[in-house]
Amino acid sequence: MTVQSILSRKGNQVFTIGPNATVADAVAILAQRRIGALVVTGNDLELLGIISERDIVRLLDEKSATALAAPVADVMTRKVVTCTQTDTIADIMELMTARKFRHVPVVEDGVLSGIVSIGDVVKARLGEFQQEHDALHDYIRTA
Ligand code: AMP
Repeated sequence: MTVQSILSRKGNQVFTIGPNATVADAVAILAQRRIGALVVTGNDLELLGIISERDIVRLLDEKSATALAAPVADVMTRKVVTCTQTDTIADIMELMTARKFRHVPVVEDGVLSGIVSIGDVVKARLGEFQQEHDALHDYIRTA
């Protein structure tokens, strides 16, 4: 199973934010959309970074709540690890485990075309397990 199969189910929508928006703006979007990370993009949608709830928790621990007025650019991770639609779900699981993050934007020919979260990966794997289970069950029943 590939990233493409996840995107064909969940779609290509990616919630983004500009680097000059405040961290408080990011908090509001994360809460309203019930998501864990935002991809930070520039004017022509180029990938500038990623900001996740973990970055915000760290910020609040290191500084006071007034830091919520800081621009997203000060808090985001700039070196974003991305994947492509042909990567397998096993590749993404390995990546998330090794690098300790839960979100991987999908970039195709330089264009942001989706995002895969750890929740998407778990859901896809559970679907695969269920299919394998059903196939084995049918095999045993008809043998
Ligand atoms: P997460 O587990 O995705 O909430 O993120 C944990 C940390 O990794 C945060 O500092 C994020 O900014 C960073 N991060 C999340 N996703 C990525 C990614 N795809 N590439 C690089 N850093 C990331």
